[in-house]
Amino acid sequence: MLSDLIINAAVLVAFISIGNQIFRDSELNETSPLLSRIIAGGISGVLGILLIFYGLNITNKVIIDFRNIAIIIAGTLGGPISIGVAAFIIGMFRVIYYGISDSSIAALIVTFLMDIGVSAIFRRSITIGKKWSISVVYCTVISLIAIVILLWRDTALLPGVTLAYVGGTAMVSVVIYKYMAYLHGVTQSFKRLKEEAFKDHLTGLNNVRQFDRVFQQIMERSIGDQKVFSLLFIDIDFFKKVNDTYGHHEGDRVLRELGKILTHGCRACDMVSRNGGEEFSILLQDCSIDQAYETAERIRKQVEAYSFRLSDGKEIKITISIGISTYPENVKDLSKIIEKADNALYEAKRTGRNKIIFQGQ
Ligand code: GH3
Ligand code: MG
Ligand code: MG
Repeated sequence: MLSDLIINAAVLVAFISIGNQIFRDSELNETSPLLSRIIAGGISGVLGILLIFYGLNITNKVIIDFRNIAIIIAGTLGGPISIGVAAFIIGMFRVIYYGISDSSIAALIVTFLMDIGVSAIFRRSITIGKKWSISVVYCTVISLIAIVILLWRDTALLPGVTLAYVGGTAMVSVVIYKYMAYLHGVTQSFKRLKEEAFKDHLTGLNNVRQFDRVFQQIMERSIGDQKVFSLLFIDIDFFKKVNDTYGHHEGDRVLRELGKILTHGCRACDMVSRNGGEEFSILLQDCSIDQAYETAERIRKQVEAYSFRLSDGKEIKITISIGISTYPENVKDLSKIIEKADNALYEAKRTGRNKIIFQGQ
């Protein structure tokens, strides 16, 4: 008896572990798209079927297993919709696979009541821990009522079955709840680390590592189909003065604010990065030199006109210099794109700052 329940618990753990690996990148919850919630319910339903399959046959009428936990997992993943789908699959399987009998009708009613009850519990705004404990108690009570009704002729079996079912459900639900919470924490940390690896911590823009990665991809794509793209290198003029006059902390404020101006100044598909210090870049795909110049000039003017507010309320002005290179319009050799944009920026600095230079000008 015990070994069957352990197999049931092992099926649950294995299923959750594999599911977590497969769906690690898709954040599932009650507000996810309907299709995702239906899929989550479907998967939980399949889990319920497996649990029934490996369940413990007390008599030819009564199977005990942890299908109720599959329904609660559905609720955790996608709320009431997922619960409904999972309950439907579990109920249908129980009747179709084992045939119509008083026990499968009872199982169907229990599954229906679980659907209604657990959905109502998951709709309430209480902590997930409370949703789990109330749902577990509710499901166990209605399952037990059904078991008692079905076993009324075999009362000798009742104490053992009740003990195994209640004890097993309590233990397994705690283990599964803790395990899911642990996996959720690991997934969140994994996502955060992945994001931080490619983001600049000060401005939230892409960092130089992400710039290199995307630039490499664009280069590879452009070699084949000669797709035009432009690169803007941007550097703040006399930024050292800002730091020297107002302090490094205020300089950071200016950098953050400038990051926002750059992001708003170009298209959503353009890639804005902080390449280091007070140097930024924008990668503009499918963008000719004229369009790149237009974008650069718009941004340069916006920065020139903008009042950067310091923490004491004082407003200061800064300017930026921009170097542009465009492939293949004015730089034919792809490997020289960065060098040419850098040279153009240097030229803008050398010839007066607060201006734009592109190669070939
Ligand atoms: P130029 O017009 O020639 O670019 O002059 P500049 O003063 O901007 O150039 P320089 O390269 O001499 O100085 C860059 C300054 O940027 C030096 C450094 O204090 C500042 N800086 C670099 N990284 C950061 C940062 O993360 N935060 C702050 N606040 N300042 C930074
Ligand atoms: Mg500078
Ligand atoms: Mg610099």
